[in-house]
Amino acid sequence: MLFRNNIEPACVYCIFARSGEEDTVICPKHGIRQPWQQCRSFRYDPLRRVPETEPSPVLDVDPEAFQL
Ligand code: SF4
Repeated sequence: MLFRNNIEPACVYCIFARSGEEDTVICPKHGIRQPWQQCRSFRYDPLRRVPETEPSPVLDVDPEAFQL
């Protein structure tokens, strides 16, 4: 869930982080960081978190079942 209280800290969704080159984030406090790193100053920004999406189910349906 996006707004639960026990979010594991990570720079990628910290309120202070800015996007860096490729797989890095830029922190005004600690410089260039990897997305999974963290520190005690972490502040959660729910708008940065991208929820995992489940793949849509593949339906094996006969098209003739929808014909009148
Ligand atoms: S180093 Fe700390 S303050 Fe900087 S982005 Fe990561 S968690 Fe946030």
